[in-house]
Formats: sequence, C-alpha cells, structure tokens
Amino acid sequence: MIDLRSDTVTKPTPEMFEAMMSAQVGDDVFGEDPTVLELEAKGAEILGMEAAIYCPSGTMTNQIGIHILSSPYEEVVCYSGAHIYRYEGGGVAGTSGLSFRLIEGDRGRLNAREIEAQINPNDIHYPKTSIIELENTVNKGGGCYYTLAQIKSINAVAVKHGLKMHLDGARLFNALVETGEKAADYGQYFDTISICLSKGLGAPIGSLLVGSQALINKARRVRKFMGGGMRQVGYIAAAGLYALENNIPRLKEDHKRAKALEEALHKCSMVESVLPVATNIVIFKLKENHKVSETLELLKKKGILAVGFGPHEIRLVTHLDFDDAQLEQSIAIVKSL
Ligand SMILES: *Cc1c(COP(=O)(O)O)cnc(C)c1O
Repeated sequence: MIDLRSDTVTKPTPEMFEAMMSAQVGDDVFGEDPTVLELEAKGAEILGMEAAIYCPSGTMTNQIGIHILSSPYEEVVCYSGAHIYRYEGGGVAGTSGLSFRLIEGDRGRLNAREIEAQINPNDIHYPKTSIIELENTVNKGGGCYYTLAQIKSINAVAVKHGLKMHLDGARLFNALVETGEKAADYGQYFDTISICLSKGLGAPIGSLLVGSQALINKARRVRKFMGGGMRQVGYIAAAGLYALENNIPRLKEDHKRAKALEEALHKCSMVESVLPVATNIVIFKLKENHKVSETLELLKKKGILAVGFGPHEIRLVTHLDFDDAQLEQSIAIVKSL
C-alpha cells in the first residue's frame, strides 16, 4: 500500500533509530534531558531566535504560541482554511478564549493590505485584534508558500498596529528549500514560530515552539497545564535532532515527486483540475460525476491511500517513505483510473 494520506506517516530510518537508541536522557520536566535541551537550542539557532520548547504535536505548539501572545476575548487574524481554525478541535476558542477574523487570501496566503483592512478599530463593540497568524507552507492552499519579502510587509502592519505574529511553520522547511531563503532570517518577523519534526522531516513525533526566552518561559507553564510535560523524552527528541541535521535538503525530492504526480493527474479523465504543486502537497478536484468517498475507495483498491480534502477534493502528500519505485507505481495507478 502506498500511503500518501500525509507526510506524518513516515517511520524512522535505521540511522534515525540508531540516534534514538543511543540518546542521553533525563527528566525533561526538571529540565534535565540533555537531548531535549540540545534539540531546543538547535531549533532556536536555526530560526534565529533565543529559545525553543519541545512539544508532542504541532497542535500543541500552535495552541501554546497563540495562548502566550493573547488574552481572552481578543481576536486572531488568519486564513479561513488555517490549521489553527479548521483542524485543532476548536482549541483556540477553548484554550485561549479568542475569536477568529478569517481571510480567504491567495490560496491561503494573506497580504499586508487585506490583513490591515481586518484589524478592528479601538471600539468596545469589537474584540481587540491581537495576533496575525500565518501558515507556511499553506496546507489547504496545496502547499504554496510565502516569500520573506511578503512576510516582511505583513510584519510592518503588525508593528504599526502593535499586533503579535505567530507562524504555523509545520512545513516551513518545505517552503525554504524552494525559496532558498535562510530559516535564520525568519525569527525577526515573528513572536513565535511552530515547526513540525514529524512531517516531511521524518521524525515519528514532535514539534518545536520557538521564540524569545521570556515567551518560552511562559510556554513551559502552559505546556505543563496542557499535559505536555514529558519525562525521558530525549529518546524521541533525538529523532527530531537527527531530522533537523539530516533531512532538510532532501525535501526537494518530495517536491519533485509531487510534481510528477501532478502531471499524471492532469492526464486523468476523472480529474477536473489540480492546484499547481509548489512543494509536497497535491490537491486535485474531481469532475462533477465522481464522489470523493468512492474515489478514495477506488484508489485504495488499487493501492493508494489518500484523504478527502473538500466536497470534491482529494489530497496526496509526498514524504520520506515515498520513493521513486512507489512514484512509478502511483503514476501507473493514476493512468489506470
Ligand atoms: C500537521 C499540521 C500541524 C500540526 O499537527 P499535529 O498533528 O498536531 O502535529 C499544524 N499545522 C499544519 C499546517 C499542519 O499541517
């Protein structure tokens, strides 16, 4: 079975396993796990920020980031298809007591002008706008990405209006291998950045929230009350460290394979359109007479696992465990549909 449901489905390679097995560990709630400390320092350094905190999931790092940048009754501005809005179980409302101001954007990429238009005036009727949240790459937008210049202009709006900036960078490195920009240049434009180690980077578990030392100190308190304080977690942090050190440049290969899938889908008679592939996500729309559920069943029978991603859309995601042989097989399956 070729599993293209998500880039989260990867399993550790023997080399990553070796790094996990030989990790030095301690109790991380006491701040005594050397491998976690090393991973956090490395994550902060890569993104040009002071400190980082290791968490079980990207949902948790997003939720903590939003929480420490806001107070209840305030508002977060983001894309209408943002992960924090659509896929985190309503956490932002529950954990932080915020409302959302949603923007469609260009495949989920927001621009400075449209964000500025959604900032509430200082009037007691309106929630206080406090956070601009961006996603890079944009999952619902089919893996498209921002350039640093776009982010810089959004940051100027944040500075002008005294707003905080949070980045859901679950797939930030997928964006960076395409733009060629440096991760270290990102830190200056955001208060907090969340990155996932368990997506394209291939670790089995884990995300990092990166920010100033003062914010990460706050984040430690929030992670504890959310139940995210883990003990001898260096065994899995070692996988994250291995991923950061070894698996970033190879993301390009995933993007090449996603492009090849896009080409094959263009020739498939069941397919109405395909969102232009920018990184490792392929979202295609079925023609009117085909149902998502039935098409997923058909794909499964032929050996591909995918997920529904809208009333007529299906998503495929390439990753570390999807190789050229599987790509050839997938293309043959798409051709046979
Ligand atoms: C996967 C993902 C996350 C985090 O998800 P978890 O499953 O909680 O790790 C956050 N944002 C985006 C855009 C994602 O794709």
